[in-house]
Amino acid sequence: MLRKSFFIATVLLCGVVNAQPRAIPLKDSTSTSYMEGISSFNHVYVSLADLASALGLRTFMLGPTGKMSVYSGDGSMLFTPNNCFITISRGARSEHYQLPLPVIVVGNKLFGPANYLGQYFTTILHGVLTYDVSTGGFDFTVNDTLPPMITGVNVEQKDNGAVISISMSRVPTAAAAALGKDGILYVTIMPGTFDFETLNSLPPTAVYSNVLAIQNPNSVQLSFRLKQAYSGRQVFVDSTKNSVMVALYSKANSRTILSDELKARLDAEKKNWKLNVIVIDPGHGGKDPGALGLGGVKEKNVALAIAKDLKSDINQRLPGIKVVMTRDKDEFVPLDVRGQIADKAHGKLFISIHCNSMPRKPDPANGIETFFLRPGKNEGAIRIAARENAAIKYENNYEKKYKSYETDNWILTTMAHSAYVKYSQQFAELIEKDVTAITPLADDGVEQAGFIVLIGASMPAVLVETGYISNWHDVRILRSKRGQEEIAKGITDAIVQYKALYEKNFAQE
Ligand SMILES: [Zn+2]
Repeated sequence: MLRKSFFIATVLLCGVVNAQPRAIPLKDSTSTSYMEGISSFNHVYVSLADLASALGLRTFMLGPTGKMSVYSGDGSMLFTPNNCFITISRGARSEHYQLPLPVIVVGNKLFGPANYLGQYFTTILHGVLTYDVSTGGFDFTVNDTLPPMITGVNVEQKDNGAVISISMSRVPTAAAAALGKDGILYVTIMPGTFDFETLNSLPPTAVYSNVLAIQNPNSVQLSFRLKQAYSGRQVFVDSTKNSVMVALYSKANSRTILSDELKARLDAEKKNWKLNVIVIDPGHGGKDPGALGLGGVKEKNVALAIAKDLKSDINQRLPGIKVVMTRDKDEFVPLDVRGQIADKAHGKLFISIHCNSMPRKPDPANGIETFFLRPGKNEGAIRIAARENAAIKYENNYEKKYKSYETDNWILTTMAHSAYVKYSQQFAELIEKDVTAITPLADDGVEQAGFIVLIGASMPAVLVETGYISNWHDVRILRSKRGQEEIAKGITDAIVQYKALYEKNFAQE
């Protein structure tokens, strides 16, 4: 044993002597960060602390042993200096793996062999980490199609109640809690998932005797058997700590806020749910004219005109809401970039404006129809989605870029959006009702379809086919200033009602 350590130490010392410092890049979808690295005997080593920090993971040094733990919401990894073995823990399970090269110490920092770390970090990340030997850099791709996972439950007893915090691998969209008459607290987290091992390894607590989890298609429901009766509860998603907090009030102190800190966080969370940014997406533009209608009307121009009217309407009637446009002139914007603009602006609602058209003109088909995201179910919806998605053919390299949108991935992609489906549908229904109330356009109803532009935006999102430019009745409305203003006004009416509905749903009880 002693001999072996001595041998490794000698090899390492030589390694260090030959070491050349170098910066190692880590690229993710938005940025590149640089980490301290060294090359030694044709191998590249990266600072484990730098790599963890670039991935947003916490680290902890185990005092005199020199060992280092790296934590994510999903698990942890333990690195030992001058040793090939790493320990990966997830839930109650720990497993040991052997790296082909040991972790080395330079200065007082641990360095790991870059080429072999990716697969192990990937096991505790919501994404894939790879190292490219030819470029000498790391790539990290977030896998955000996986729902947030429950990674632990903590309880804290207070004088006037208790707080249960459920930690998650990522921030879920919404959470709800209810106290059953049977002494059970039901908590629903959406979207969410769990594994049995994590939940089974939870220690018993002073607040509840056991917890049971049920996986639903879009959510996870936890049932806590409480040890005493509580008179009320509050629940909120704490986005700063990737957790769901449930505050329980004991009978004696009914409705008292548990602590100032908790109250401040509740208020901050309420602000997060405010409908404060709306993204308007005028369809097509630039080299992509969209559908060509009767009398030379182009879809891209009608869409932009209505979008501009909609923006000024919102500014006037809902001055607290910021409006972001994916384009405000006649320019080409790729479909996926539209979603990125919406996400960057932290939009709470995404409205894509289009005009419908039939291949043969004129055609009797007419009316306004509003879509939300789901793979197309009926033939009409599939036809319209195919036409709108065809905008990608104006983009370079589109086969490669949109490959992930092929059938298999539909299920995953729509699951990621399932939390927003309810809100998207409610908003779509309001648009149909309110626009047809003030324009002569017929109500063609709400439909689900697979629009690429709606996939990119991580928020409730709809696509409005405002009317048919292949129909004389509709095109007269769509190309007239008055018609465009009325459609915009109808959509704003829908936003006003949606805002009240949406914010009420997330208001604290
Ligand atoms: Zn269109």
